[in-house]
Amino acid sequence: MAEETIFSKIIRREIPTEILYQDDLVTAFRDISPKAPHHLLIVPNTLIPTINDVKAADEPALGRMVTVAAKLAKEAGIDEDGYRLIINCNQHGGQEVFHIHMHLLGGKPLGPMLA
Ligand code: C5P
Repeated sequence: MAEETIFSKIIRREIPTEILYQDDLVTAFRDISPKAPHHLLIVPNTLIPTINDVKAADEPALGRMVTVAAKLAKEAGIDEDGYRLIINCNQHGGQEVFHIHMHLLGGKPLGPMLA
């Protein structure tokens, strides 16, 4: 059984966080340490530690993460200029919170992805 992270508490609204979107599958909120003018996190409501742990049954939640990212980007008015979606995995991917999350970054030119 994977250990819960702070994201589970945010999803259950046990700690005060502005929830930008929530449905039966996913939750979205602002990154506490933004790396761009718009930096949101979209997470599955169930705890999946890393992309390596994704099962076929998780596909609806993973798909919803993408459609919700597009919706939130449009609401933020950054859809036309563009934005970046990132899911980090494990140490080399730079993952720090072991509850899958998609970063939505935008609001300025982000430059080349690989530096
Ligand atoms: O992909 P990675 O695991 O590195 O990203 C974790 C992200 O979660 C960081 O961008 C960090 O700022 C964010 N975070 C947050 N709220 C917390 C803890 C971490 O938004 N309470």
